[in-house]
This record gives sequence, C-alpha cells and structure tokens, in this order.
Amino acid sequence: MGLEEKIPEGILLTTVDKMTNWARKSSLWPLGFGLACCAIEMMSTYGPRFDLARFGMEVMRPSPRQADLMIVSGRVSNKMAPVLKRLYGQMPNPKWVISMGACASTGGVFNNYAILQGVDKILPVDIYVPGCPPRPEQLIEGIVKLQEKIKSESVRRKKK
Ligand code: SF4
Repeated sequence: MGLEEKIPEGILLTTVDKMTNWARKSSLWPLGFGLACCAIEMMSTYGPRFDLARFGMEVMRPSPRQADLMIVSGRVSNKMAPVLKRLYGQMPNPKWVISMGACASTGGVFNNYAILQGVDKILPVDIYVPGCPPRPEQLIEGIVKLQEKIKSESVRRKKK
C-alpha cells in the first residue's frame, strides 16, 4: 500500500520551504517610491491596465518597515544613495531588490560625478530589468522572475 493510500482524505503533505516560499512570492509588498522617469512606468504597472493585483502585490507600502521589495526605478544620485541604503536597512528580512532601467543598473547615459554607476554598488540586487524606460510588461517579467527565484529559496538560508 502506497503512502497516499494510508493518509486520510483532507491531509496535505508539503514542506516548510514550499509553504513559506509560496506565501512570500504571492504577497510581495513593494516600498512606494520612485526616483526618475522609470517611476512613471512603474506607476502604470500598478494601474488597472496592467493590474499587478493579479500577482498579490498591488499594496505599495509607505513605510519600509512594512515592505519586502524595493524597486529602484530610475537613476540614483550620489546624494540619494545613503537614503536608499537607510531605507533598505529599515526593511525587515527577507527582502528583495529589483533594479529597474538602465540608469538604476549602470548609470545609463548619465556617466558623470553626480550619478551612482549602478545601484548594486550599495544594495544586493536580485533582478535587473533592462530598458530606458522598461515597459510595464518588462517590469512584470522581472517580478515573475523574482517570484521564481523566491520559490527556490530556503527559510534556513537565503540563496543568493
Ligand atoms: S533608464 Fe531611461 S527612463 Fe529610466 S531613469 Fe534612466 S533615463 Fe529615465
């Protein structure tokens, strides 16, 4: 007799990792802020046309203490970098970062003294979304890729 036949109906077998990762990936709460033109595309991603509610994450949080996803949408000035670092530090673990657009990922066309040449110099980026600006569909793809990554993580240790 197989294990399935011995278990009464209504009992579900799974692992802590699978349950936790399912819950985490299905309820990402992004920190609500935008840095430059990419933020306009990010805002439209939350609108009715693209409807991020389908992914369980339409609730933008005004406080970093309630957020677990930082979407860096736009260029990061050197003046803004310490603020970003502080906000990231105030987010509870586990937390994730999406770098949205060429400027956030590399400085883009702004190769000058005022702009950070990639937000990964100060934050651990999980997903890079290319483009200038990326379309909402691209950001959604980045979010789906992040969800796939979260599915492979463990509650004991965050895989990088
Ligand atoms: S990548 Fe393009 S759209 Fe985004 S912040 Fe830079 S210049 Fe603006």
